[in-house]
Amino acid sequence: MNMHTQTGTKNISIAQTLARKAVIIGGGIGGLTTAIALQQRGVDAHVYEAAPEIHAVGAGIWVAPNALTVFQRLGFLDEIISGGFNVTSSCISDTTGRMLQSFSPSEMSTSRLPLVPIHRAVLQEHLIAQLKPNTLHLAKRCTGIEQHENGVTVQFEDGSTAMGDILIGADGIRSVVRTALFGATDYRYSGQTCWRGIVNFRMPEASAATEMWSTKPGVRLGYSHVNAEQVYFYATTCAPHGGNDTPGTIRQRLAELYSDFPLYLLEMLAAADESKIIRNDIWDFAPISSWHKGRVVLLGDAAHATTPNMGQGGCQAIEDAYALAEALSLETSLGAAFKHYETSRMKKAHFVVNTSYRIGKITNWGGTKAHLRNMAVSLAPKSAAKRQFNYLFNLEF
Ligand SMILES: Cc1cc2nc3c(=O)[nH]c(=O)nc-3n(C[C@H](O)[C@H](O)[C@H](O)COP(=O)(O)OP(=O)(O)OC[C@H]3O[C@@H](n4cnc5c(N)ncnc54)[C@H](O)[C@@H]3O)c2cc1C
Repeated sequence: MNMHTQTGTKNISIAQTLARKAVIIGGGIGGLTTAIALQQRGVDAHVYEAAPEIHAVGAGIWVAPNALTVFQRLGFLDEIISGGFNVTSSCISDTTGRMLQSFSPSEMSTSRLPLVPIHRAVLQEHLIAQLKPNTLHLAKRCTGIEQHENGVTVQFEDGSTAMGDILIGADGIRSVVRTALFGATDYRYSGQTCWRGIVNFRMPEASAATEMWSTKPGVRLGYSHVNAEQVYFYATTCAPHGGNDTPGTIRQRLAELYSDFPLYLLEMLAAADESKIIRNDIWDFAPISSWHKGRVVLLGDAAHATTPNMGQGGCQAIEDAYALAEALSLETSLGAAFKHYETSRMKKAHFVVNTSYRIGKITNWGGTKAHLRNMAVSLAPKSAAKRQFNYLFNLEF
């Protein structure tokens, strides 16, 4: 018997009711999980991904108990847990190693599931393995959608089209589907840029997922093992958006930014293959009040892109995927199903966006304000943090 019970999806079919065929735009974590959840319920769900080949960014992702509960319901939890690294604690510390906040993820949800850092490529492989054959279509960039009485048609850059009873926009923060539904978005720049990488390295203390806060504006370093040999790191600082690194200078820049961090972290950064370090400016957009129109519905970053300060963007997309499939099983009209989905997901997704945005703001502080912030975080009552993690890590549907 596996370590965690694989419950599998309740066998409720959608196919004969609301949606026989679903077109999903975007083959990221959200789009792939949605396809799995719909296919398990009898829907002919197809994913259309703009990229010509699937290759996940060279980074890790922390998969929290709420997302693992979805994978458990979909029947492939053990594959994800064994593909990643099982950490027993998650903490924030300052650069001297003084603990500001620490908790055990498995004690924060009724599922008792852990937090699993995993290489993004490994997560993606497991998701793709769950899809029915020939349902992932690459090099299909959506350029427009058209709704009509009996369905929705999507146009692709290569001149081809596809049709479905419903269309799901899982095309990330710069979603063309969202723009087609609701017009232009006011994006918010967090003020921070972020480098990420995977390094062959062994941490002296491997059992934690850690984020270290410096007192320089925006300077944080997060890290955890993603397997016994490799460490995933993300490193932020305040910087104008649109900046680029001159090739060959990244490690030097990181060494300077993180010079007051513990020696083992400087060694870890120095061991990184510079050509594989990726850099992204951190953006989100303020919560929007609707995620659907007619036969089209949004999920994941397309619906509620968040700054990554709670490590929940991908987990929320995974929750969306299951909640949408469930809503389509329970309701008898598309309008009711999409409303049901929104009602079950919007409050929590927006809590994540808003809270992450606020955390981002305080991590932009430097100097005395940053010292005071670190002290306040260390003195915050554990009960408040526990309430927040209980809310994040349990599912409400
Ligand atoms: C630095 C950083 C760290 C993070 N850490 C975590 C973490 O630890 N835990 C966590 O849960 N989340 C984390 N996140 C957030 C997480 O990565 C995102 O929330 C998640 O990837 C969203 O998934 P998605 O499928 O909605 O969108 P995406 O992953 O953006 O996928 C969208 C897909 O749509 C495709 N696409 C775009 N436009 C089109 C088009 N026109 N036609 C067809 N396809 C298109 C894209 O190529 C892409 O494959 C982090 C984010 C960042 C930036």
